[in-house]
Amino acid sequence: MDSPENAPENAIEIRDVVKRYAASKKAAPKLALEGLSFDVPQGQVFGLLGPNGAGKSTLINIMAGTVGKTSGTIRIWGHDIDEDHRNAKMNIGIVPQEIIFDPFFTPYEVLENIGGMYGVAKHLRRSDELLRAVRLEDKRNAYARTLSGGMKRRLLIAKAMVHSPPILVLDEPTAGVDVELRRQLWDLVSELNAEGVTVVLTTHYLEEAEQLCDRIAIINHGKLIANKPTRELVGMMGEKIVAVTLDHDVDRLPHDPRFRKCVKEGERLIEVTYDKAEMTAGQVLALLQDQGFTVQDVSTREADLEDVFVQLTSAGAPEGPAPQTANT
Ligand code: ADP
Ligand code: MG
Repeated sequence: MDSPENAPENAIEIRDVVKRYAASKKAAPKLALEGLSFDVPQGQVFGLLGPNGAGKSTLINIMAGTVGKTSGTIRIWGHDIDEDHRNAKMNIGIVPQEIIFDPFFTPYEVLENIGGMYGVAKHLRRSDELLRAVRLEDKRNAYARTLSGGMKRRLLIAKAMVHSPPILVLDEPTAGVDVELRRQLWDLVSELNAEGVTVVLTTHYLEEAEQLCDRIAIINHGKLIANKPTRELVGMMGEKIVAVTLDHDVDRLPHDPRFRKCVKEGERLIEVTYDKAEMTAGQVLALLQDQGFTVQDVSTREADLEDVFVQLTSAGAPEGPAPQTANT
């Protein structure tokens, strides 16, 4: 591993990465990544968000070397994964989505074996420290088959950290895990990041990305549709819409400085867009009443990830294929 003093500005650089899966007996040919480009800044917790089938695991597996890309380049800690495979590999730890597990070794032995594989000298191995970090110290010598699903997942994280890489990548670490374990994993991610590890995690849970990530890239159908600091992205999702049907035709509009937008949508229909951090639907309705509008029916909508997808794709996405680094 390179020392942290040599940390590059970007932990990972992804340029024009295309992945075309060939047709197989099981699946039709598939263009899974359509020329993806973005950077993962060093030191951050970076979220790769997208619905199932978006291409997240394909990208992670290309970085892990288990899937070959069709074209494009990836640099990990400054090392090209094709030209400088060894150094790229030494600087990243990857926890795949699928739990593959060796049932014949104890957690301690698993970590020691991996340490050997990476050529970490015996006196430099930190198997016990890692077991403590993932709260498995009391399972040190347990039979692997006695580990619960959550414990296996935590052991996989320890495995990915055996060679002390400065980058840890987690593919859907909390898919299908209970609330308790999710909390533990979140804490673990935060601890590692506080120690300087750059963390990339994929998820299709918006809330998880919001809680943990400094920056979020959204991919859909193998294309990047957003790449922004989390607070900016969440800002875009903070809008809520109240649609009210009046008891008479709309002849004027209500007004309030907190309304983001107020439009006549039909003869008797008004839609008010507001920021849910600033006011509630109840306050909107009270304002309407104060201003002499009699409301007959009301419905509310919240912008969610789906809306953000729609918004970003229909707006001709500034982070679309054209610019190389969409670091707005
Ligand atoms: P995600 O992890 O975001 O859910 P994936 O990277 O697993 O998405 O899949 C992206 C797309 O590529 C999906 O349409 C999936 O069906 C397809 N795909 C994944 N692996 C293969 C494969 N080995 N052969 C053919 N198509 C695949
Ligand atoms: Mg996946």
